[in-house]
Amino acid sequence: MTNIYPWQTAPWQQFLQRRSKGQLPHALLLYGPEGIGKEEFARTAATALLCEQVGADGLACGVCKSCQLIDSGNHPDFISIQPEEAGKAIKIDQVRELIRQMSLSAHFGGYRTVLVSPAEQMNLAAANALLKTLEEPQANTLIILVTSQLSRLPATIRSRCQMLRFSMPEHAAALSWLKSTIDDPAQADKLLITAGGAPLLARQMAANGTIQLRQQLLQDLTAVAGGKKQAIAVAGEWLKQTEGKPLQWLYHWVCDMIRIKCGDESLAINQDIANQLQSLAQAIDLKRLYHFLDQLSDAIRFRQTSANELLLLEGLLLNWTYLKTVK
Ligand SMILES: [Zn+2]
Repeated sequence: MTNIYPWQTAPWQQFLQRRSKGQLPHALLLYGPEGIGKEEFARTAATALLCEQVGADGLACGVCKSCQLIDSGNHPDFISIQPEEAGKAIKIDQVRELIRQMSLSAHFGGYRTVLVSPAEQMNLAAANALLKTLEEPQANTLIILVTSQLSRLPATIRSRCQMLRFSMPEHAAALSWLKSTIDDPAQADKLLITAGGAPLLARQMAANGTIQLRQQLLQDLTAVAGGKKQAIAVAGEWLKQTEGKPLQWLYHWVCDMIRIKCGDESLAINQDIANQLQSLAQAIDLKRLYHFLDQLSDAIRFRQTSANELLLLEGLLLNWTYLKTVK
């Protein structure tokens, strides 16, 4: 990745200015909504810092030895830390290994860059270990943390980083970019809505048939509510979906149900399925919906620990059945 997205011009200019003035910090924290390209930006910035012949636009050349090593995932001065399993925690052993590598001098004698993403996935021990590194910065080293959930990062970590905020792109810019990158541009509008306006998330959805999956999950939820499918069986099917999508979607759907029940359907984010959500919410008391939303929020948090995901889904879907049967 040696490009920036059209909606990232402003943060890129900020980054270049800080670089040209020699004001790059030892730690940058990139934050903003999910699915808008923050991690890609971080990689672009890290690649540019290591590139041997940066272009006039500040971007890496893409052909030098350093760029090639990064492309193949083998640059010894570019260290990337992410959860070993999607959706799980970044563990202390991973941060310890980072600290060990940072104790050695940079292999190429230039900058060393570290990417931690998603930073909020660090468990407490890992965050504390990283904090020590942030407190004792090294010259010519840039640690870039990326998060979509800023509030979940300890304040101690946040306070030691220079912040770089990423906003949700303007709808028109996101839509025009999306149309130019997917096979079926006619789907772009619907995809962008489903992705809450986040263009990269929308592109990913187009690539892996997410729209169809989302429709299937909504049908399942309706069937469970109507007693046509067993909660336990549906939980088993939902477990096969990767990266906790069912939980995330269910959370957003219930948020929309609450908005609809509060009387303003136009505020629903999932406009394309607002009618279905409205009929699902009809027989449920508003207070019970709020309570269910709390349970969902807990489940999303527990899922990132070692909790049994099947049990979480079963519990939620059983509760969902209960909500629907109490009139
Ligand atoms: Zn290069």
